[in-house]
Amino acid sequence: METPPLEPGLYIVATPIGNLGDVSRRAIDILSACALIACEDTRVTGKLLYHIGIKRPMRRYDDHASDTAREQLLGEMCQIPVALVSDAGTPLISDPGYRLVREARARGIPVTSIPGPSALVTALTLAGLPTDRFVFAGFLPSKDKARGDTLSEMAALPMTLVFYETGPRLVASLEAMARIMPGREVAVARELTKLHEECRSGSAAELADHYTAHPPRGEIVLLAGPPSAPEPPGEADIDAHLREALAQLPPSQAAGRVAKAHGLDRKALYARAMELKG
Ligand code: SAM
Repeated sequence: METPPLEPGLYIVATPIGNLGDVSRRAIDILSACALIACEDTRVTGKLLYHIGIKRPMRRYDDHASDTAREQLLGEMCQIPVALVSDAGTPLISDPGYRLVREARARGIPVTSIPGPSALVTALTLAGLPTDRFVFAGFLPSKDKARGDTLSEMAALPMTLVFYETGPRLVASLEAMARIMPGREVAVARELTKLHEECRSGSAAELADHYTAHPPRGEIVLLAGPPSAPEPPGEADIDAHLREALAQLPPSQAAGRVAKAHGLDRKALYARAMELKG
């Protein structure tokens, strides 16, 4: 079937993260109809185009391209349909494109996104960790101090944390997690959609031991579930908190303070405060 001509503008096209079968019908249609494909590496994108059986002009682009190169591309988008792809997955997600999209929008150039694979979402759907709230923080810094600082900033966030990671740095990141956020369940999602896909869960310390013994190959997403809820205080602890409060407050207020601080039932605490007082 003939592909209908495309309007000029910028087309952000997601491509597979490993399994070439994941390229969408719409991605193929758009890539076939674009007059130019801006890509990170013409050899990588060339392989994809070969796989889907099309030949289109390609040009290298990333966000560090010169202003002149970006201006040229923006000028072309006013005349012809230009696709942007990255080496794998969704452009702009830890990949180039942000500056191009921002500039195109500022100039009123139509921008269309053709969604598809991303390692971030694929890992979240696989890891069995809560997905109702998560934060994606790209790659962790490579230096120990900066990595520790980033993890400390995030340690108390009550949601799943998602990072992109590399094999050589995985164990150092897991060891830092074991130190800084020991209560979180961790998952390592590796080689997603590829032959040796793996998703392994455990504590950060267990996974650090495993990957020290079996150095990981390939591409990795590292996830940490929300911090585990603190254990509710036992009876002896509750009595201690109540006694402390009773030293300063009447029983009803002491019960109110302890109930609020520990999420406990105020009525039951009032009864106990009266017993302790009596
Ligand atoms: N734009 C891509 C996306 O949408 O997922 C991400 C590009 S980023 C430069 C590359 C990183 O993504 C890798 O280092 C790895 O952390 C993660 N990644 C990409 N493909 C992956 C795969 N098949 N399995 C696991 N992680 C992957």
